[in-house]
Amino acid sequence: MTGHLKNIKLWNIKIYYIDSRPRGNDFMEGVKKNRVFIKTYGCQMNFHDSGLIEDGLLKNGFDKAGSIKDADIVILNTCSVRDNADHKVVSEIGRLKGDKKIVLAGCFAKQIKLKKEFGVNINNADIPADYCFAPDEILSIPEILAGNLEKNYNGGIKGNGFKEELKATAEDDYQNFNLVEEYFYNKKIDSGFATIKIIEGCNNFCSYCIVPFVRGKERSIPFKIIYNSAKRYADKGVGELLLLGQNVNSYLSPDDVNKKNKKDFSYMLESLTKIDGIKKIKFLTSHPKDFNDKLIELISANDKISKNIHLPVQAGSDRILSAMNRGYIRRDYLNLIEKLRKKCPDAAFSTDIIVGFPGETDEDFEMTLSLMDEVKFDFIFGFKYSPRPFTKALEFNDDVPLEVKKERLERVFQKQKEIKSLRGGYQPL
Ligand code: SF4
Repeated sequence: MTGHLKNIKLWNIKIYYIDSRPRGNDFMEGVKKNRVFIKTYGCQMNFHDSGLIEDGLLKNGFDKAGSIKDADIVILNTCSVRDNADHKVVSEIGRLKGDKKIVLAGCFAKQIKLKKEFGVNINNADIPADYCFAPDEILSIPEILAGNLEKNYNGGIKGNGFKEELKATAEDDYQNFNLVEEYFYNKKIDSGFATIKIIEGCNNFCSYCIVPFVRGKERSIPFKIIYNSAKRYADKGVGELLLLGQNVNSYLSPDDVNKKNKKDFSYMLESLTKIDGIKKIKFLTSHPKDFNDKLIELISANDKISKNIHLPVQAGSDRILSAMNRGYIRRDYLNLIEKLRKKCPDAAFSTDIIVGFPGETDEDFEMTLSLMDEVKFDFIFGFKYSPRPFTKALEFNDDVPLEVKKERLERVFQKQKEIKSLRGGYQPL
């Protein structure tokens, strides 16, 4: 078994995968026909990652369980963006009884690992999981489970330490992307819709957000891999693609950073629309500060690009936007919406709003409601602020009482209801 293990580096993290080319009976020896159930929390990125984990496991002799109850191995692919996401996972683990193997993966898993690494004493730093894989380690899950390798709470096999792997070079990354493409992007197709992750991580460090800590720095996947994946999907009958990333607008193919005609997000979008069979392309998530004129022109001129645009604003007050480190002010955001509406009159907008950020006064909050009035979003996702480990905002005084946060959130939803009743709406991506 061990002789067939390959080690590759994905972005800056070394991963291990199983070479799935046929090579005799010895390969399946030791692989247990265990039934696995994957429960996914959080965003579209996580659902995409769960698909990769599942594909890897099925290729390596595991069976899919119909429910947690029927499973021998339960993989919780977790979210950590708000504290209630953490609580959900901790409660789920508490409910998992018997001799099931528990695999913790994703953003909450990384949070736990960071807490251990930095000796942060927070009560959920020790939870009873058998394995713990950060988002950039999930591709090694099939190998670890298939090999029944020694239980290692830190994820990865022995010697696959997080710090050590940061030494990988950009050249290594690029070469190894080809292996990643061969193994993981050759996915089973069961509908006319597919998601492709184009960029991972984030460099923005919004002060409330744990994502840059748990998903790491921004890494774009080479254009060639994305293009080939989209082409392969289209050849198999997929007509609709959803491109995913924490900030898709800052996509830049890593093989092309010094050339004149950069393979940026607009270049990629346009290239994918030219693939025979691709009828619609959606994308998530955009950052207002990186949504440039070139992209607006492209969206307006190309019918294959969805005009349902998710553009998180978070707050309507400049004071709060600055404390959030969002990189734009209210006027910039409104100008962007105006530009988009002028060029794409049929565009529909959705957004994220956080209420109760530290220091948010009644006046600040009213600015958020008035921004909603101005934009008239088609859909909103509203949240109460909750402090996240490792973030800048953790140093701020979380001074808005929970009752006030709840009341403000209710008013945001009420406002949206009124707006929607006046202008209808659409379903978010
Ligand atoms: S842009 Fe801000 S909110 Fe979005 S993932 Fe990056 S740090 Fe988090």
